[in-house]
Amino acid sequence: MTGPTPGTPPVVLTVAGTDSGGAAGVAADLTTWSHLGVHGACVVTAVTAQDTTGVRAVHAVPLPVVAAQVEAVTDDLAVAAVKTGMLGSVDVVRLVAERLGHLPLVVDPVLVATSGAVLGGADVARAYAAHLLPRATVATPNRDEAVALCGVEVPSSELAERLADTGCAVVVTGGPEWRAEGAVAADCVDWLCLPGGVPQAVRHPVVATTHDHGSGCTYSSAVAAGLAHGRTLETAVADAAAYVTGQLRQGSGWSLGRGRGPVSH
Ligand code: PLP
Repeated sequence: MTGPTPGTPPVVLTVAGTDSGGAAGVAADLTTWSHLGVHGACVVTAVTAQDTTGVRAVHAVPLPVVAAQVEAVTDDLAVAAVKTGMLGSVDVVRLVAERLGHLPLVVDPVLVATSGAVLGGADVARAYAAHLLPRATVATPNRDEAVALCGVEVPSSELAERLADTGCAVVVTGGPEWRAEGAVAADCVDWLCLPGGVPQAVRHPVVATTHDHGSGCTYSSAVAAGLAHGRTLETAVADAAAYVTGQLRQGSGWSLGRGRGPVSH
């Protein structure tokens, strides 16, 4: 069998929910990937009715339809990396672990929307820890999600270390205590921990903006694009942080909607 024609982009698959406001979820993933030189395929797990002010309704796609989408993509396309966003149920978490757990896998354990809406309950958090994190290449929870996954409120560096004990690399992003953990005022600190390793701070500038909805999705999809291009995890993580910072800067003066506007993409 011959390889792909030169210039053919790597394929990355998102398994995630939609956001009717076009900020988060599948919209963020596919637009990020069109910037970063990979072809994006998408398996939709849930349809959300939301705008910049909040989530009004969530419709879970039936499990057999999620499974059929996974099958259609993997039967035909050579998937180089997978990114998961909102999975929404224990069954979908298990399906992803079983069908896609052998591929390079970036798990963004989406549990709470930027607006505070719950997109995955305690049972989903437990399923992530038990079934998906052990198979992931890297998990990218924000601080609130990391607390939900660990069940304790400890510093983000410690959350990263605890979650890395499940067997995957972990980046805990953002969080209210970043200054307390030694950042200078102009920096935000994410904590990266490799399995069995020591947490390392990944610093990047803070961008003051209300246009940040979808920034977590954008970050994790940028990490997946880096892995699909064959970069090391450390490089993919550093590049993704720089990419999100640039996108936040680009949209910082925008005024889309009445609430948390979309991160530019
Ligand atoms: N995926 C979906 C479908 C969502 O609705 C949300 C938040 O509203 C997210 C992911 C996470 O969004 P963010 O990147 O802002 O954390």
